[in-house]
Amino acid sequence: MCIFCDIASGKIPCKKVYENDDVLAFHDLEPQAPVHVLVIPKKHYDNILAVPKGTNLMDSVLEAVAFIQKNFALESGFRVVANTGKDGGQSVEHLHFHVLGGRNLGWPPG
Ligand code: C5P
Repeated sequence: MCIFCDIASGKIPCKKVYENDDVLAFHDLEPQAPVHVLVIPKKHYDNILAVPKGTNLMDSVLEAVAFIQKNFALESGFRVVANTGKDGGQSVEHLHFHVLGGRNLGWPPG
């Protein structure tokens, strides 16, 4: 069972922001910034390393990111993060990209 597969299939509701053939974007349940949207592939990949070479998934991810940037007026900047593995802080094992913005984001991350 994968919670993001259930969100992608509509079994579990989400606050949808954007959708295309390959990805779904929705508001994170526990936002860490004024804008915190997750972009997930509809197809299950455990993490970024599991995406086969030659797929055009990243084109769809970039379309979603551009939509989010425009729709939430993030012209002063934003961050895209794919936490990967235990040390990367990944808690859901279905590839997802955090799009964070709306405040000055600190660096380095904790
Ligand atoms: O990078 P990481 O795997 O920790 O991110 C998972 C994210 O998914 C968290 O920010 C969490 O708040 C979010 N989440 C969600 N809806 C769920 C389960 C997790 O927005 N049902």
